[in-house]
Amino acid sequence: MSEDLKVWFLSSEVAPFAKTGGLADVAGSLPKALKGLGVDVRVGLPFYRAVKEGQFSPRPFLSGLEVPLGEDILRGDVLALRTEEDIPVFFFEREELFDRPNLYGSSVEDYYDNLERFAFFSRAALLFAKTVEFRFDVVHCHDWQTGLVPAYLKTLYRGDPFFSAAGSLFTIHNIGYQGLFPPQKLPVTGIPTAEYHPEGLEYWGKVSLLKAGLVYSDAITTVSPNYSKEIQTPEFGLGMEGVLLKRSADLHGILNGADYGVWDPTADQHIPARYSPQSTVAKKKNKVALLTEMGLDPAFRDRPVLGMISRLSAQKGCDLVVEIAEDILGLKAGLVVLGAGEEKYQTLLSGLAQKHQGRIAVKIGFDERLAHLIMAGADVLLIPSLYEPCGLTQMYALRYGTIPVVRATGGLEDTIVAYDRKTRKGNGFKFGPYEAKAFLRAIRQAIGFFKDREAWTRLMTNGMKEDFSWGHSAKRYIEIYRSLVRSQEPEARSRKPGARIVFSILDSGS
Ligand code: ADP
Repeated sequence: MSEDLKVWFLSSEVAPFAKTGGLADVAGSLPKALKGLGVDVRVGLPFYRAVKEGQFSPRPFLSGLEVPLGEDILRGDVLALRTEEDIPVFFFEREELFDRPNLYGSSVEDYYDNLERFAFFSRAALLFAKTVEFRFDVVHCHDWQTGLVPAYLKTLYRGDPFFSAAGSLFTIHNIGYQGLFPPQKLPVTGIPTAEYHPEGLEYWGKVSLLKAGLVYSDAITTVSPNYSKEIQTPEFGLGMEGVLLKRSADLHGILNGADYGVWDPTADQHIPARYSPQSTVAKKKNKVALLTEMGLDPAFRDRPVLGMISRLSAQKGCDLVVEIAEDILGLKAGLVVLGAGEEKYQTLLSGLAQKHQGRIAVKIGFDERLAHLIMAGADVLLIPSLYEPCGLTQMYALRYGTIPVVRATGGLEDTIVAYDRKTRKGNGFKFGPYEAKAFLRAIRQAIGFFKDREAWTRLMTNGMKEDFSWGHSAKRYIEIYRSLVRSQEPEARSRKPGARIVFSILDSGS
């Protein structure tokens, strides 16, 4: 057990409170697994409108927390609740920053003050811990929104005895979101301008909060072993490969887990018919419900229906889906897409659905219930990502007996094994080059097996028996937390002297 470990777990989204993607799933489920292993884990996130309007009822916990932001001191409140698993969750409230329709921005652009919003959250989370004397061993931060936290510990609060024993872990969920802001805004964060240089949080003339997390944290993880290798190369590092190569000794790839408490066809309350590997016939009822709800031709009852549940972005392979959508119809398959994201893809996909009513159905928006219904009702789940740090939907699909067709990248490569007709092993279909032709070939292959009921049943059961639960990965996180506790001597935790070239861009305002 790990009763002695105290972890302050900070994320900009946490399921079920606020979610746009997999980060929320991880921040909702990893703490449960850690708690189950005896860790004292407490979770912090902003108090968004989504939380306020949800069914959660957090209670006021602390009012008037003073948080410096640029020249100002903002007062924030903290609300709290305990989850069913007895995990304390703290919500940081500042109405004008977080009481908005979305978490990060609209489908067209990010909120203009995201730096202020997440600097407030990051600093408030540390000041709150100090105010309530939560002497955490490790602060576990996720993605750029909390990248300032390790930077605060290594700069502003370096001499503060309250934080002297605190280690920091930064997890990269997606290196494509780098939290870039004009350098003139750095003073808002309170980070000394002397840190604005290429060995600090400067990234090609901008402040990068992701880079702050990478540079100042004591250790870094990312969400699959394969992605941890990929991001150290120019193709996938998206400009951060140099920083990561320098820190490769501190970088670990730990596969995300699936929360089978939420994603389990034997107990799923979102779907009309529950089923197990022993009774997959009931899956058909979910398919029929899906066809009806989405207005697909009832003839698809006996034909393959391909599903996609995704943020709509270039990263997720939306271009490929648009390119091959009409070819799929030629294969006598139906297509159901649930997604929200970039305007461009929302329009293209909606256009296809309009043109091919009854054969392509698209729902734009974020809909947890429908996500579960597609997972249960579709035959195949498409995940043609350009890159995929881990990917959770393929793990959920496997559990639901829905066969993943994926691009062989990142965590998809780690979790999906191509089906082999001879050995009858494997759980899905993969393609390599990011090309419509290759994607279509993999879909054709899958559809070919769909007609072979024996092979298809085998594929379904292979997938449904896989276990991607958190157990193993949570233990690896605990090992890393422990390694950070051990290296707590102030000397060991201070920044290694490196080239600290100070640029004066901040002063010149360029
Ligand atoms: P990412 O984190 O890159 O978005 P993941 O595969 O790791 O991708 O996680 C995606 C999560 O978000 C899954 O839980 C998936 O079901 C959910 N999701 C994505 N888009 C939607 C949507 N439009 N409606 C409901 N759930 C969605």
